[in-house]
Amino acid sequence: MTQLALPHGLRFEDLYDEAGVARLDGLFLSELERRAPELAAQLKAGRAAPDALGRKEESDLLIALAPHLEDLLAELFSIRAPLAELAATHHELAPLYNCKRLFVQRQALKAHKPAEVEGLDPAPLEAELERRIGAPLTDLTFARATLAWMDAEATHQEDLALAGRYAAWATLTEAGHQRWRGSPLFRMPHKLDPMHLIDLRTVERHGAAMLDFPEERRRPREGFALTDQGADLKHALDQVHYCIFCHHQQKDSCSKGFREKDGGFRKTVFGVTLAGCPLDEKISEMHELKAAGRVIGALAMVVVDNPLCAATGHRICNDCMKACIYQKQEPVDIPQAETRVLKDVLALPWGFEIYGLLTRWNPLNLRHPVARPASGRRVLIAGLGPAGFNLAHFLLNDGHTVFAVDGLKIEPLSPALSGVDAAGKRVPFRPIRDAAELVEPLDDRVMAGFGGVAEYGITVRWDKNFLKIIRLLLERRSRFAMAGGVRHREA
Ligand code: SF4
Repeated sequence: MTQLALPHGLRFEDLYDEAGVARLDGLFLSELERRAPELAAQLKAGRAAPDALGRKEESDLLIALAPHLEDLLAELFSIRAPLAELAATHHELAPLYNCKRLFVQRQALKAHKPAEVEGLDPAPLEAELERRIGAPLTDLTFARATLAWMDAEATHQEDLALAGRYAAWATLTEAGHQRWRGSPLFRMPHKLDPMHLIDLRTVERHGAAMLDFPEERRRPREGFALTDQGADLKHALDQVHYCIFCHHQQKDSCSKGFREKDGGFRKTVFGVTLAGCPLDEKISEMHELKAAGRVIGALAMVVVDNPLCAATGHRICNDCMKACIYQKQEPVDIPQAETRVLKDVLALPWGFEIYGLLTRWNPLNLRHPVARPASGRRVLIAGLGPAGFNLAHFLLNDGHTVFAVDGLKIEPLSPALSGVDAAGKRVPFRPIRDAAELVEPLDDRVMAGFGGVAEYGITVRWDKNFLKIIRLLLERRSRFAMAGGVRHREA
């Protein structure tokens, strides 16, 4: 299906139109009223006086609302089946993280010291494990079998002893790491030494001592192709499940900053202030939804505070990570998790439209669920880098008209995508079913001129295709226009 057929008499154009989005909000509220009247009343009260809610109360309300929003969007875009499939993949992987925490960490590593398992021959252990599991040994078959044996511990003592020895070998030895390279099951967070944050070794070459990475940790750079694809779902969920959802105790320092007893922010040994996410993104809440397989709900939670999250996350920012509650061991890799949350929604049918819609209408945003009506004010923005394009977004949602200029030449996109023709006139644009159509290999991609430092300053480690997504979010808005090749000079 390549045509977007919306229910409830909605047209695609309505998703980009104030009145249409207001109708959608009304639909959401009446559907919520029907399905969960108490929650609907809480939402109404929350919208009327958002600051009267405590942060914890607000988090609970938003987490409760997220599944309802997700269900409506699944219906709207007819993606119930692929969304359910994706949620099921989250649940299928869950035994990995439960086994890691409950068995590998709490039992196997407590029962065995590195010296006991170093030099162990894994082949007979693996053969015996396969025989007992009754299936080829994978991280998932190991995790599922071990959790089942833990549930009937008295009758599986031998099985658990064998699994414990094997898990200790896989976790504590270099040979074990090599064997399970693609899996997070046997990889534990390491202790942090601020003076040795990067694991380097000293080698001697041509009579000189040099710092060096082991071969297997090097990432070759070929031309301008992307060198870092970021975490896949399995590894991103490993980080999500490593998070202990501190918002329940109001200790989510990743978001609010790491406080000392005197109320000030803690500093690192390098004097860096641990102020947490500059946007106060609801990270813990996003992780909780993602762990529960609420794929769209997790993105909606991010978008409340960080609507242009396509320009943040992996390889861009890590203030959140530095302020994570884990200060003595590896922090949760929040940027990886956040970027995966976005990519998982983008990979759904109509994923781009869903993300875009959430930047214009988001019921999880109590203060600003829909864009404000036209203010009559016109604002000029000089520079379309991250500061300029974020400012443009917030001004648009505040009802202002924005004209943005940039010194770089901005290459036009197809009018059918952008809604703007070569003369700068607004034309109808079509829905994007498959966000992959926006992706270009970075080594073939022509500089498009949009994004400022994110376009010309950031290297091949970040996927610049995200810039096209951000650009479309703005360019399709009727109150936005931009021009390249314009320089602002002091008189
Ligand atoms: S990312 Fe770290 S600080 Fe934030 S909620 Fe998770 S464990 Fe807590």
